[in-house]
Amino acid sequence: MMSTYRRLRGLVSGKHIVEKIGNFGASGCNISDLQLFCAAADDTTAAMLAPCPVLRLEAGEALSDASGACLYIVLRGSLAVATDTHTGMDDGTVSKVLPGESVGEQSVLDEASNLVAISALEETDVLVIDAVLVWELIEQSNGLARNLLRLMSFRVRAANALLRRRQKLGEFYRQLSMVDSLTGLYNRAWLNDLLPNMITTAHDSDAPLSLVMIDLDHFKRFNDQHGHQAGDQALRIAAQVLGAALRPTDFAVRYGGEELMVILPDTHQPMALLVAERLCERLRQAVIFEDLRCPLPHVTGSFGVASLLPRQQEHDLIATADAALYRAKDAGRNRVAV
Ligand code: GH3
Ligand code: MG
Ligand code: MG
Repeated sequence: MMSTYRRLRGLVSGKHIVEKIGNFGASGCNISDLQLFCAAADDTTAAMLAPCPVLRLEAGEALSDASGACLYIVLRGSLAVATDTHTGMDDGTVSKVLPGESVGEQSVLDEASNLVAISALEETDVLVIDAVLVWELIEQSNGLARNLLRLMSFRVRAANALLRRRQKLGEFYRQLSMVDSLTGLYNRAWLNDLLPNMITTAHDSDAPLSLVMIDLDHFKRFNDQHGHQAGDQALRIAAQVLGAALRPTDFAVRYGGEELMVILPDTHQPMALLVAERLCERLRQAVIFEDLRCPLPHVTGSFGVASLLPRQQEHDLIATADAALYRAKDAGRNRVAV
């Protein structure tokens, strides 16, 4: 056992090996109190564990740089273990290992050292079982093997739950990154992601699809005269007008600056023109308040409508709607053009 001692002495600077006796002396722990040995402790197991050292860690002291895999069982005090060590995923959370509980089973089973982030939360006594001895104990005791399997199954379940939570969180942030924070409309990233699919679907199913490009009229002047905050409010109102007037199957996007876009699936050009006329009218009538006492001049927009042609791709469709928008500007603004 001398070699084991020396190796363990190298694990933790300033640690003390307190004792190495079967009932773990001053800790007050018995073998049957240990989760892994619950209903699996007999005289042979106790005799095999008897030579295992018990480390005393000061509060904040870390177990680090193990030269080989070991199983650690807390006899007294508590350990903080980075989630990575327990579940294989590092999400910055820490779990607490209490008396009777263990850590390091996985590194023993797969012979990989993963003790980078285990430290004592208070003065803590830890029973150290060398990997070789863990395997001997498993061979000797079916009860221990069963307990270990149950524990590993629990760890896998916890890791899966963490993964699911993360996937949900990832999806939440992905969706958040697709929405414009000022207007609540979809943004350009969303458009780049989804418009090509919508166009492919329309072509594949031989369904119509129309697009309306919208640019607010003289918006620079509006900003200059009423301030940027009022301009922001006008953009929000324009977005609300679109949101309120569209079908649930239509999409409104902030294309950039004061340029908005509406995508109308399953919509031929005559119907798209009617929709654009309705939007133009509602925007013209929308009241913009900077605050409740102070209504601002109405904001108008110019609307360009384009409908998908056979084999046409998104760039070409957007360019066609853009050209129509400029015809609406040239014709005097506050109107719809194709
Ligand atoms: P036109 O009728 O020809 O479209 O004239 P315009 O003034 O609307 O067009 P121009 O492209 O010259 O100016 C667009 C203005 O939109 C300038 C810019 O400050 C303003 N703008 C773009 N994004 C925002 C925003 O998020 N908030 C505010 N308040 N203003 C914005
Ligand atoms: Mg513009
Ligand atoms: Mg403009």
